[in-house]
Amino acid sequence: MAHRMTPPSRLLASVGLAAALAFGATACGDTSSDGPNGAADITIVTGFYPAQFLADSLLGDSGTNVDVVNLTPPGAEPHHLELTPDDVIRLAEADLVITLDGFQHAVDEAIEEARPAAVIDLAPAADLTTKAGSDGLDYHFWLDTTRYGRVASTLAERLTELIPAEADAIAANLATLLTTLDAVDTAYRDGLAACEQELIVTGHTAFGYLAQRYGLVERGIAGLEPEDEPSANALADLATLVNDNGVTTIFFETLTSPDIAKTLAAETGANTNVLDPIEGVSNDSRGGDYVAIMNSNLEALRAGLRCG
Ligand SMILES: [Zn+2]
Repeated sequence: MAHRMTPPSRLLASVGLAAALAFGATACGDTSSDGPNGAADITIVTGFYPAQFLADSLLGDSGTNVDVVNLTPPGAEPHHLELTPDDVIRLAEADLVITLDGFQHAVDEAIEEARPAAVIDLAPAADLTTKAGSDGLDYHFWLDTTRYGRVASTLAERLTELIPAEADAIAANLATLLTTLDAVDTAYRDGLAACEQELIVTGHTAFGYLAQRYGLVERGIAGLEPEDEPSANALADLATLVNDNGVTTIFFETLTSPDIAKTLAAETGANTNVLDPIEGVSNDSRGGDYVAIMNSNLEALRAGLRCG
């Protein structure tokens, strides 16, 4: 691990960061995140998988040794990410941090403290809106392929500034990615064009943009964040909604507990199936990356909504 000199003003920005940096000094020699040839030339750090996927896709096959680090471990959900002292050091030493302002408070705070060399906030390109019936911003832009594509284009510009030598590779990778996202969008449009059901009951309210794009209506068992547990009254209302609307599938997620979805299904006689908000990829995911899981989600939606 290369130790860059840190200006004293940054070191002393807060006791927390100073402690984190002191801790990190003891971790010298841990090269688990480095490439096979030692430290990467460029390190990009983010806190959530959809940003990691974009950076990896845009920089794939580039000649520069780039390390894209996701601070959320595989199998964990990113909303309530807590950072270790090592994570804060990674942020402080990153060449670029990709963030979504407001989505992960620990990352926002660490950026304030650690002042990495460069930060890109994806929120403006994502054009975030509030979820209907809620005053909270919906951060799940990646579940709408057009929003995700716009964000990819914005990130590609920033990555080109960061690594000008890779401008051609990044442009080619962006074109490929946009074509892929377009194909996913077409598959959704066709696949969800004729369904018996339009109401999707999901684990947490992550699918608002997707629902809006394809003419569906979403009700999350939890709120915009997976840890917003519903009250007994809210669950009873959901059961009534499920029964009144003839919902036959309750969707749950891979990274959070399916218990409430299964309880609701048992109460209403509905089935359960996975609808993955793609906040991370684990061994339980139905697909190895964003595109594969989007395709699995479409199959789950088509079965659950009884689409022709
Ligand atoms: Zn979420």
